[in-house]
Order: sequence, then structure tokens, then C-alpha cells
Amino acid sequence: MEKALTVLKELKRSYPNAKYYLNFKTPLDLLVAAILSAQVRDEVVNDVTPALFAKYRTAKDYANASVDDLLKYVGKVTFAGNKAKNIIAACRIIEEKHSGKVPKDIDALVELPGIGRKTALVILANGFDIVQGVVCDTHVIRVSYRLGWTKNTNPEKIEKDLNALIPKDHWKETQWLLKAHGRAVCKAPTPVCSACPVQKWCLKAGVKKYI
Ligand code: SF4
Repeated sequence: MEKALTVLKELKRSYPNAKYYLNFKTPLDLLVAAILSAQVRDEVVNDVTPALFAKYRTAKDYANASVDDLLKYVGKVTFAGNKAKNIIAACRIIEEKHSGKVPKDIDALVELPGIGRKTALVILANGFDIVQGVVCDTHVIRVSYRLGWTKNTNPEKIEKDLNALIPKDHWKETQWLLKAHGRAVCKAPTPVCSACPVQKWCLKAGVKKYI
């Protein structure tokens, strides 16, 4: 645990502005952005959401929209059609079962189309400051494995390993920091270990393959 905290401290020094990467103002904006963000660069999502959020402000607005309506705004996002369908279906459930409010409950969130455990954790942590686990996105999975923080490859097992290793008050920033490091230095497929501020604590320094 001490070593992991030292690494997090060093990463914070290297990435002082690391934060959640998708732009949003409300939990509903966040839910929509998070659904759109699967397998697409954050910049692409952040590019389309200002106009989308200006037009669609409530779950009811989305629930009453058609896929074609949403595609006018999100058409350039990967798998836009499926994501638009999921947004509409999720917002219909939010409207019908949750009085138009994004639920603050992980079990209710994962019942919504397009929302898995990872996205539910993201919404709870960043939308409501309810932190229930380390969010294991692709960067967190890669960097934590290389650092030797997990031997697992399954995201849910990795989350359990990280939750056990890292004190709860650092869970939220762990994703931000590992993602910042994964994008800048500990890249896939080849990390730039010579430029790594946490190289001396890394078990897989210089190893390209991570899983
Ligand atoms: S030493 Fe290399 S593999 Fe380890 S965290 Fe740094 S960049 Fe990643």
C-alpha cells in the first residue's frame, strides 16, 4: 500500500491537472457523455456534447427524441446509432422509474441500457461524489498491471485488487492519474519508460506486453 501511495503521489506531481476527462454540468449530461464515450476518444465526445446538452436538458427530452434526432448531434461518434438507442432507452427508464433523475444507486444504474459497472462507478463518483470502487478503464488496466498492482486481466478482478491496495480516499483520483499517465507515457503498446516518473517502483519497466 505504501508503494502504491508513493506512486500516486509522484503521478500527482507529474499530472497536477489530472481530472475527469469528459465535460458535463449535470449527472444526466455525464450519463449521456459516458454512454457516448465507449471506444471513442474523449476529445470526440467533448466536441459533440455542448450542442447536444444545449438542446437536450432533461431525461424527458431524450426520452421523446428519435434516434435520427440524436444522430444529428452525435453522428460522428463511433457506434452512434446504438449509443443513441441506449441513451433514449435509458432516459425512458429514468423518466418512468426514477422521476426523471439519474439514480444514485449502482444496481439501478447498471439496469440502464449502455451502462455497465465501470460507467456506473464513473457516474456515481464524478456526478454525485459517491465513490464505490476504482474505475478500471483501459488505461487503468494497462498501467496497474505494468506497475504490478494486479496480476488479473478481468476488469472486475482488477477493480477488487485496486480497491484492496489503495485507500478509499484515493480511489477517485486513481483513475484520473493512471489515465493521464497511460495517455502521456505508459502508452499502449509501447511505454516510454525512459521518461517515466515512477519507473523505480514499476515491476514491468521496459516490458511492452502487458496482458
Ligand atoms: S516504467 Fe514503463 S511500464 Fe512502468 S509505469 Fe512507467 S512507463 Fe509504464
